[in-house]
Amino acid sequence: MPLGVPVAWMKFLYDHPPMVVADAEGASFTDLDGRSYLDFNFAITAAFCGHTPEPVIDAVSERIRRGTVFQLPTEDAIWVAEELARRFGVPFWQFTLSASQANAEVIRLARLATGREKVLVFGGKYHGHLDDTLGVLSRGEVQPEYLGISARNLDRTLIVPFNDIESVKAALLSEDVALVLAEPALTNVGIVLPDPNFHAALRELCRATGTLLAIDETQTQACAFGGLTRAWSLDPDVIVLGKSLGGGVPVAAYGMGPVLSELIDRPARAYEVVGEVVDEPAIGGTLFANALSLAACRAALEGVMTEASYKRAVELGGRLADGIDGTIRRAGLAWTTYRLFTRSGYTFAPTLPRNAADSSAADIPSVRHLARVYMVNRGIWEFGWWAGPMVSLATGEEDVDAYLGVFEEFLADLLDTPALVSA
Ligand code: PMP
Repeated sequence: MPLGVPVAWMKFLYDHPPMVVADAEGASFTDLDGRSYLDFNFAITAAFCGHTPEPVIDAVSERIRRGTVFQLPTEDAIWVAEELARRFGVPFWQFTLSASQANAEVIRLARLATGREKVLVFGGKYHGHLDDTLGVLSRGEVQPEYLGISARNLDRTLIVPFNDIESVKAALLSEDVALVLAEPALTNVGIVLPDPNFHAALRELCRATGTLLAIDETQTQACAFGGLTRAWSLDPDVIVLGKSLGGGVPVAAYGMGPVLSELIDRPARAYEVVGEVVDEPAIGGTLFANALSLAACRAALEGVMTEASYKRAVELGGRLADGIDGTIRRAGLAWTTYRLFTRSGYTFAPTLPRNAADSSAADIPSVRHLARVYMVNRGIWEFGWWAGPMVSLATGEEDVDAYLGVFEEFLADLLDTPALVSA
């Protein structure tokens, strides 16, 4: 066996070997063969600031000369926590390096706070690679979603359909669920928007049953300033952020009120573990809140992810949605466009999905795969139907128009081969 061969986790992600990236700037990147691509995926929102945001480059360059990791906070951590509190409306913030780790800590803290074990998530969710949530509902039972996950890790996990408030009620009424972990809109099974009253009803049910509610804004923080929590006036107990938070540098965070923060600060109950009194929850990591990540995060929030730049990106998202919608109509296809601020896309069905099952039923995998390969061969990189195209803070009108030009060509060529559309 050869030595030193990278084993890529994303081997199965595309229908072709991944391109190997050489360079990037703003809203585009170049591969090793020198081909350029306009990015409409932005690493599933992680590069929402654009690929080379100047304020982040400056802050990281400066910080790396002054030391990057101390296991002590820097002033940037305080600045960032205050800024996140201002934007997202919850006061206390804890940092990790990925959203998966943030969600894992939130689940632990919720169990500790409530003395309950169960966690409820929605079908079609993805909250990261953590054992508690990597399940799928199959014939009424939660089963492992991937190899390597033990069914035993999932015996305290409940999964109900998104937008199905009656199922949520049935699950929460027994008052043994610690946490509902929800994305504001599903982003990992196409985009599934919430019904108008879904979040209000969910909030009310959680409160009535003593269940904590966490909103995972890992992707949707790139939709609107302050995330969908602010845009839709949600009122969660916990907010989880990740991906784009550090302007391309790894950092994630979760924000919470005093119920959870006091557990970190000074837990009400201490435990005796092998004769020792233990009063700290199992959270933290050596590199969490490191100075480099927090310098990048501060620069990204202060100099790139400003309210004005979000406003501009949301307008561009509207231009993209209008363009996609018009192109689909002109082509006479019964597909539907969705709008989610900076993220617009389409489904292969006359109505928008309300849950994961609808979304999967609307899928035409052959067309979805073809669309991505067609687009990438013409210099447009998007993840494909289930993530939709998105605009970043570095995207320009001309980029959106270039996307729409290729999309129009795609539909024209597709309609020349009708068997594909109904496949
Ligand atoms: N939450 C959501 C909603 C996500 O989409 C993802 C990643 N796609 C995660 C959490 C996990 O993020 P990470 O892989 O950075 O840990």
